[in-house]
Amino acid sequence: MALLEVDKLTKRFGGLVANRDISFNVEAGEIVAIIGPNGAGKSTLFNGLAGHHAPTSGSVTFDGTQLVGQTPEAIAALGLMRTYQIPRSFASMTVLENVTVGALLRHHALADAHAAARQVLDTVGLSGRGDTPAGELNVAGQKRVELARALATSPRLLLLDEVAGGLNPSEAVALAEILRSIHATGVTLVIVEHVLEVVMRLAHRVLVLDFGQLIAQGKPEEVVRNPEVIGAYLGR
Ligand code: ADP
Ligand code: MG
Repeated sequence: MALLEVDKLTKRFGGLVANRDISFNVEAGEIVAIIGPNGAGKSTLFNGLAGHHAPTSGSVTFDGTQLVGQTPEAIAALGLMRTYQIPRSFASMTVLENVTVGALLRHHALADAHAAARQVLDTVGLSGRGDTPAGELNVAGQKRVELARALATSPRLLLLDEVAGGLNPSEAVALAEILRSIHATGVTLVIVEHVLEVVMRLAHRVLVLDFGQLIAQGKPEEVVRNPEVIGAYLGR
C-alpha cells in the first residue's frame, strides 16, 4: 500500500474544472515534484489533499485512511501537512512563536512545544532568528518560517507549495539542501515547484499538470524532454 493514494480526484469551481480525474500514488520515502503552468490546478490539488476544500469527487487515502471529508486539523494529526504558496506566518509574532503554533499539535505543554520549535528552527537554518518578528524577515526567511511551522507538526508527508518561489538561485539551492536534510529524517515530500533547479536536484519522480489534468509523469530528466510537457509550458 502506498503512503498516499489519490484516485480520480476532481474539483469544480462552477464551470471550471480545476482538477480533473487526477490519480497517482506516493510511496513512503519518495520526493515527488508537481510542475505545470500557472493555473494548472497545483494549489487546488494541495487544498483537496489537505482538507481545505471538499473535492467534487474522487478519493484520497493516507496510510489507508480516507481523507475526503476530514478537517485540515484531523489530517495534520494523521501526519499530512502542507505549506502555503503565500506564507501565512503572523507578522507581529516572533519566528519562534510562529513555529510553536505548529509544534502545539504534538506537544500539549508550551515548554515542550518551544523546545520542539527550537529544534525545527535549527533544521531550517533560523536558529539565530527565533526572537525576530516574522514580518521583519526577507522573503527567503519567511519561506523558511512557513516550512518550519509545517515541519513542527511532525508530518510523515509534507506538501510544499512553491517553497522556493521568489528566492534567488543561491537561496533556492540552500533551500533544496534543507529539504534534502528533512527528507533524510524520514519525511516523504511532495513539492509544487517552478524552480527547475530544485526539481532536478531533489525529485525522484515528476508529475505534470496542465489545465487540471495529469498529462505526464516520470523521472525529472525524462519529463523535461517530453514534447507534451514542453508544449504545455510554451502554450500550444
Ligand atoms: P496553480 O496552483 O497550478 O497555479 P490553482 O490551483 O491555484 O493553480 O488554480 C487552478 C484554477 O482554479 C485557476 O483557473 C484558478 O483561477 C481556479 N481557482 C482556484 N481556486 C479557486 C476558487 N477558490 N474559486 C474559483 N476558482 C478557483
Ligand atoms: Mg499555485
